[in-house]
Amino acid sequence: MMNKFTVIFAMGVLALTSCATPVETEVTTEQPWIVDRFDDIKVIRYEVPAFENLTLEEKELVYYLAEAAKCGRDIIFDQNFKYNLAVRRTLESIYTASEVREGDEFKAFEKYLKKVWFANGIHHHYSNDKFKPEFSEGWFREQLAAYINDENRQVEDDLLCKIIFDETLYSSRLNRAEGVDVVTASAGNYYEGVSQTEVEAFYGAMAAADEGNPEPISYGLNSKLMRDAEGNIYENVWKVGGMYSPAIEKIVYWLEKAAEVANPTQREIIEALIKYYKSGDLKDFDAYNVLWVKDSESNVDFVNGFIENYGDPLGYKSSWEAVVNFRDVEACKRTEIMAANAQWFEDNAPINPDYRKKEVKGVSAKVITVAMLGGDCFPSTAIGINLPNADWIRKEHGSKSVTIDNITYAYDKAAQGNGFMEEFVLREEDRERLKTYGKLGDDLHTDLHECLGHGSGQLAPGVKGNELRTYSSTLEEARADLFALYYLGDEKLVEIGLIPTLDVAWSQYTDYIMNGIMTQLSRIEPGKTVEEDHMRNRKLIAEWCYEKGKADNVIEWVVENGKRYVVINDFVKLRQLFGELLYEVQRIKSEGDYEACKALVETYAVQVDPELHAEVIERNNALNIEPYGGFVNPEYTLVTDEAGNITDVVVSYPANYVEQHLQYGRDYSFLPTFN
Ligand code: ZN
Repeated sequence: MMNKFTVIFAMGVLALTSCATPVETEVTTEQPWIVDRFDDIKVIRYEVPAFENLTLEEKELVYYLAEAAKCGRDIIFDQNFKYNLAVRRTLESIYTASEVREGDEFKAFEKYLKKVWFANGIHHHYSNDKFKPEFSEGWFREQLAAYINDENRQVEDDLLCKIIFDETLYSSRLNRAEGVDVVTASAGNYYEGVSQTEVEAFYGAMAAADEGNPEPISYGLNSKLMRDAEGNIYENVWKVGGMYSPAIEKIVYWLEKAAEVANPTQREIIEALIKYYKSGDLKDFDAYNVLWVKDSESNVDFVNGFIENYGDPLGYKSSWEAVVNFRDVEACKRTEIMAANAQWFEDNAPINPDYRKKEVKGVSAKVITVAMLGGDCFPSTAIGINLPNADWIRKEHGSKSVTIDNITYAYDKAAQGNGFMEEFVLREEDRERLKTYGKLGDDLHTDLHECLGHGSGQLAPGVKGNELRTYSSTLEEARADLFALYYLGDEKLVEIGLIPTLDVAWSQYTDYIMNGIMTQLSRIEPGKTVEEDHMRNRKLIAEWCYEKGKADNVIEWVVENGKRYVVINDFVKLRQLFGELLYEVQRIKSEGDYEACKALVETYAVQVDPELHAEVIERNNALNIEPYGGFVNPEYTLVTDEAGNITDVVVSYPANYVEQHLQYGRDYSFLPTFN
């Protein structure tokens, strides 16, 4: 599970209270952290502080894992939509060959290509809606005629134009609307020729056959479900020798290199991952995860594989992603305190005691520095990750939880001076608190969410965990957020030295409620509802607390100069409400209460007040803040002596968004256009 960035990217000037702050670069009036802006996106660079302090073996390990992280880029394009590689390759051919680089049509075309790179496809990475090109079909056809020939044509021109220009075709990557067949209505490439009913029957039967197995595999996680020539439904498995083999072979090649320089524990882990990539057997994947989750000692760590299921409307299939990282030693002191108190948090959680974990195992949380992002984690990335996802492994062996400090630091830097806080936070006292404690509050929220929130609680006997279906991710994110919010306001945190004062919590509450009920709407197109799980979760919490606290005026709407503001009048009561909602959300999860879950999500998390929505968009647009952020990766170069021995690895920051994607397209593209 990941924690997508919440509001950090949009905040105004925030004080940096984290103990692990990367090297300061010169501050100029220009924004030195933002390397590109287009449409609703800003691209930020991130630094990799203290890379030079790693040992030579660790640096080499980072290098090889980073190569492996880049090799799966085509997979995520293809997973997102089966024509994505065709579109990307055609656009890149035109873009690099075109002699005319001026004019409205070309600029609109360039913007579209930048958006395709950013989203790993032609659907928005967050809203899942198909991009609307701002260049004309006529102009585009001229480019096709000029630059696309039999050698570089990926798909027939007419079909390509339909894919790009026909608004009704493949309009959503992920459609989870009520009453539609979410499988056939979604353009994602996880299923082909099968209906939602057939998919549910297929995996329902698989689960039923496995009934009672205490170590169930994650059914369907690493395959496309489709039909063979006879019309039988089968899984086309992503593995060496299977679907996506050319890319997976390259990943395995670099993993083998990585194994050579890894410590013995990590070598075993990497070899287990290679075994799974070769077999495609999900039992091998679990075996790998068990080894991986136990290793809390290695300094360098990584994620590489089919991990998160947010892209599948039914939650079976996982997208390919990669993250390479190493420990941020200073900042880790924060999460070590949290982990040491994990049982206390569990025992005191405001939930039915039956649903508390009796023994909290293997809480391992650390703050990391990211060295490379790949697949579904690039260019847009999470700021926290908690893995593995398999419930039985989490229960038996625990989970590893990380907060990514150099990424939040970069977001924060990129947001400085953007005027957001002045526009949306009414009270001076709230702004002051946010300036002083905003980043610490965000960091601790992420730590608590990942380190303790997702790992907390247990299911009632007989409940499998798949009962909540399309609502399960929203509810799970709400559960982790509520756990974090509730404990952030607990005196215990002051006592154990995590926060100097509860003002840290109140700053986070101000931020969270404002974002959930109001400012996050700037990221949704007019007329649309809230679809993304993390956004739904935040809206659910904010709206529920507003309504339940109405009698006591806990949260209040204030209008000044024709502008709406949300203010919190009673932080302590708000914290109680977080606790009450957590009680209910945990009950729903533990009991698998689908109807209650559906009612909660549909009532509070989905519908948008159109007037408020329009106002937020207008005020936000006036600030010229792009609502989404993503990154360019650093580059690593091997240094060798005359005999060819590796003597060092150096990191550099080329920081040109277009160049980086063209280079990745040239050097890390291994899949055929159709898979
Ligand atoms: Zn989460």
